[in-house]
Amino acid sequence: INSKLPHTGTTIFTVMSKLAEEHKAINLSQGFPDYDCNPKLLNFVNDAMQKGFNQYAPMPGLPVLRELIAEKVSNLYGASYHPDTEVTITAGGTQAIFTALSSCINSGDEVIIFEPAYDCYAPAIKLLGGLCKPYELAPPNYEIDWEMVKKLFTANTKMIILNSPQNPTGCTLSEKDIKALIKLTKNTDILILSDEVYEHIIFDDNKHRSIALYPELRERSFIVASFGKLLHATGWKMGYCLAPEQLMKEFRKVHQFNVFSVNTPMQLGIANYLKDPETYTSLPGFFQQKRDFFRSLLMETNFKLLPCNGSYFQCVSYAHLNKEKDTDMAIRLVKEYGVASIPVSAFYIRSTDHQVLRFCFAKKQETLEKAVERLMKL
Ligand code: GLN
Repeated sequence: INSKLPHTGTTIFTVMSKLAEEHKAINLSQGFPDYDCNPKLLNFVNDAMQKGFNQYAPMPGLPVLRELIAEKVSNLYGASYHPDTEVTITAGGTQAIFTALSSCINSGDEVIIFEPAYDCYAPAIKLLGGLCKPYELAPPNYEIDWEMVKKLFTANTKMIILNSPQNPTGCTLSEKDIKALIKLTKNTDILILSDEVYEHIIFDDNKHRSIALYPELRERSFIVASFGKLLHATGWKMGYCLAPEQLMKEFRKVHQFNVFSVNTPMQLGIANYLKDPETYTSLPGFFQQKRDFFRSLLMETNFKLLPCNGSYFQCVSYAHLNKEKDTDMAIRLVKEYGVASIPVSAFYIRSTDHQVLRFCFAKKQETLEKAVERLMKL
């Protein structure tokens, strides 16, 4: 077969979780909680199933859920998205990203991404005949020099993908970043795909700067969110996309022939659960406690901690310890120390020598304690 993705292997999340399982290591690699979601939520979903909500949902999602999302976005970011035409429920964030890209990327279109970048962007762009233009950011702070971004612009620049809070770095875009982006894309029709799946995992009284806050960007942006992160239920593969009507129209043309519609009882259960805003307003505090705890433990190890302003990932550098490639180091940590992490080079198209590993701290306190106890031996 003539592969469409000849240089793409198996995603690092599958590789590391499998390795963790094989070696019975503590899995801080793939990002998912090791505690269960709220029983209230489970009851709502159960109820929906028992009451017979088991057939297809409307193609864009259950109206009640779309209305609640529109309300949430309006309360949090003062943005008005019409539930009928500008909100679509998806089978997770990754599907929303793939669908958004499919709905507008043509052969030869260029898409700017910030590396380290979540690993689904580049292959999707490639499959569509697009060209990925990566801007490689470097540890420890991964700051963006917007003059450098400008240099990546060509007549074919179709889209910029943003991800804040960023996976894997935990960095967030500042007001200054957004202002620079607005200035740079003013009077252009460059689209934005804003991956905001960690919007509620943000620390130190920082505010999430959703693209929805900025009318000049919002009008040409897809915003992607994830119920997996919001509800501690990554296995449900549920999320949503926001976009102005014209863009959403194109998005739905693809969505209808890709997944058609998403799990009905879960949509209803989620809608009933989200009626209480506490379900999401409590998340920053919940995760801050975990971040602070994990960082305080890691401080005692030989790793150097990188900043973490959002997301449930903590990156560490070991460049001062050895020059081992991060992929080798990650494998060695599993085999010799019993802890799985993600090598951050997996998020770059070109190989890097940054010696940075990512740990997921969406875990029970005892899991984090046990993991760091093992890492102390390093
Ligand atoms: N988003 C999760 C992470 O970054 C992984 C999701 C997946 O495995 N596809 O770890």
